[in-house]
Amino acid sequence: MSIVLLRLGHRIFRDQRMTTHCALTARAFGCEKMIYSGEKDSEMEKSIEDVAKRWGGDFKVLYEKNWKKVVNSFPGKKVLLTMYGVNLPNIIEKIRPIKDLLVIVGSEKVPADIYDMIDYQIAVSLQPHSEVAALAVFLDWYFQGKELEKEFNNAKIKIIPQEKGKKTILME
Ligand code: SAM
Repeated sequence: MSIVLLRLGHRIFRDQRMTTHCALTARAFGCEKMIYSGEKDSEMEKSIEDVAKRWGGDFKVLYEKNWKKVVNSFPGKKVLLTMYGVNLPNIIEKIRPIKDLLVIVGSEKVPADIYDMIDYQIAVSLQPHSEVAALAVFLDWYFQGKELEKEFNNAKIKIIPQEKGKKTILME
């Protein structure tokens, strides 16, 4: 199984937090990696790499200027998340059995070419909101909540859940 996020059109000044949160959400909720296009952002890449080093797992962030190359070369099915798509509840049963998915989110207006390159366009409600929310809800419906119990190997730090307060242990 390979669930990969493609984040289109990253703009360092405008999108740094949102793209970082796309990566953190993708990592926490079951994606193998995030590929992003637009402006190369080494600082953002490093911040995600540091999270993965401390909290474990093999999540990667990769830059690819040519987003079409990513879409055309992906061996599985391609899903564009957009408020104009088929609403998630009406298509998830068709999507869940697909094991290799490229999940695509925009930042600015997505390039019109993409519509002929994808297999599905899926809405997470028919209202405008955020790529982070759309990604999180899509992944939760796809994994049916199992992503919330995912274990991350080689973690240097782990949380011990508390009813009140915070507790972590170092796994050195
Ligand atoms: N300003 C851009 C435009 O007008 O096209 C879109 C901004 S929107 C916040 C950025 C991304 O969030 C979209 O490309 C889409 O991937 C995602 N998104 C926002 N609302 C969504 C929804 N209801 N369902 C699925 N994806 C959504």
